[in-house]
Amino acid sequence: MADELNLEANASAHGGATGLEALEMGAARVQVDDKKIINCRADLNQLVPFKYKWAWEKYLSACANHWMPNEINMAADVALWFDPNGLSADERLIIMRNLGFFSTADSLVANNLVLAVYRLITNPECRQYLLRQAFEEALHTHAYQYIIESLGLDQAEVFNMYREIPAVSRKAVWALQYTQSLGDPNFQTGTPETDQRLLRDLIAFYVVFEGIFFYVGFTQILSMGRRNKMTGTSEQFQYILRDESMHMNFGIDVINQIKLENPHLWTKEFQQEAINIIRQGVEMEYQYAIDTMPRGILGMNASMFKDYLQFIANRRCAQIGLQEQYPGAENPFPWMSEMMDLKKEKNFFETRVIEYQAGGTLNWDE
Ligand code: FE
Repeated sequence: MADELNLEANASAHGGATGLEALEMGAARVQVDDKKIINCRADLNQLVPFKYKWAWEKYLSACANHWMPNEINMAADVALWFDPNGLSADERLIIMRNLGFFSTADSLVANNLVLAVYRLITNPECRQYLLRQAFEEALHTHAYQYIIESLGLDQAEVFNMYREIPAVSRKAVWALQYTQSLGDPNFQTGTPETDQRLLRDLIAFYVVFEGIFFYVGFTQILSMGRRNKMTGTSEQFQYILRDESMHMNFGIDVINQIKLENPHLWTKEFQQEAINIIRQGVEMEYQYAIDTMPRGILGMNASMFKDYLQFIANRRCAQIGLQEQYPGAENPFPWMSEMMDLKKEKNFFETRVIEYQAGGTLNWDE
């Protein structure tokens, strides 16, 4: 009882602990059952005992798949980019627009994680993954910077596109409203209304931003790589896609865990709101496909992206327990799932992944 009172006094009046509370000497040891994904008052500085093994396993997989942007050879891309006959105007538009969108998008995601979400997720193994994810977002921004530098592009032009080109800015503006609603340093969860605000942010960023808004661009660039164009850029995007698909799956696990522990948040009204958020995401990303691909290119056109976005939105809905919104939608790009499937025999990343695993295990006997 005394321990409980002290813990209460130690944590903030509402919501959960942050991990920065004063140490309480001799406090009761953390038990698995004390742990909660949001609004937890148990000590957040002790990683174990694990409660959410899925979070720890994703952290380990992410580390096992480590990569660095500057390991990828960009020479073929540079030669093609500077060859006046190397790429069509439409292909150049796709590359520029996607670098414009992604070069700032991953900073937005990182800032949402570090400045809004991290503090409110009150579980050490989830935070361990969030720290890894935050570093991966930095690597992604690094990758875009590295591509921009390699191709000798105008950095200011690319990094300012999200404030100058409507097709690029629209998605960033849409996402910002969700993180801004948590950005007040005094914001706390702990009431149904504030807990739902956090859930809304998680759905907007993990399910829509990383789970839908990245997919037109990824498909366009990877399709170029499949045609042997901009292969270094495409390889960078393939590594990023693999990371992003894990970010999204982690976010979905977090959303589902919050639902499981707080079923009162998942009201009919809230479910409808989540559906609306996802449907808006599909519309906006379809608009992005039209804006970046005014004519058909690389065997793709905007209407194929409508099918693709509806197909992936159905998957996202099912993954968080919502009804599929686009019955019968089919995947016109089945090769995309191979691109992110880590278990494929002919995995693009296989050799590099194994190198990192060997280095990371520190097994000196081998
Ligand atoms: Fe991400």
